[in-house]
Amino acid sequence: MTHPQQYGPPQPPPYGQQPAQPYAYGQGQGYARGCEVCGAQPAAAVTVRAHQGMIVVMRTVTRRGVLCRTGGLAVYRKTTSDTLVTGRWGLFSLFVTPFVVLGNVLGARSALRRLPEPYGALRPLLDPGRRVLRRAPAMLVLTPPALLAGPGDEHAGLSVGDCVANTAEWPSRRS
Ligand SMILES: [Zn+2]
Repeated sequence: MTHPQQYGPPQPPPYGQQPAQPYAYGQGQGYARGCEVCGAQPAAAVTVRAHQGMIVVMRTVTRRGVLCRTGGLAVYRKTTSDTLVTGRWGLFSLFVTPFVVLGNVLGARSALRRLPEPYGALRPLLDPGRRVLRRAPAMLVLTPPALLAGPGDEHAGLSVGDCVANTAEWPSRRS
């Protein structure tokens, strides 16, 4: 059993993973024009989703594009970071947002990070800025679970989702 994955039951692809392939010279088609934003190559076709919760209503905005590593990461980081803010204000969004974010991470982000640094840009590159985890929204979202991970029996009485729901009570949380 040197290749267990090959003989196991069929594995569904992780949510949001797109078969985005970086453009390579001499093969493939359609991406030869390079990045939509700056014109640089190589570029990959990626899908980034934003989610917005509005109490009861919610919506997910899908953006598809052929983007280079630098420009793509800029779009991914801004969209995902915004989603961590706008994706919290809805009954169902609390459950949808984690999957939207996970889809962006496994799909667009992993495809873009496989690309080499872009070259031949015709227009200015977008500034990728800070990583998502280094931005304020991610810190805000990740702090409550960190508090729950403390020692002792603080998990008693909590159920799944409590940590997320508690973020709505941010000003009154006890630390
Ligand atoms: Zn670009």
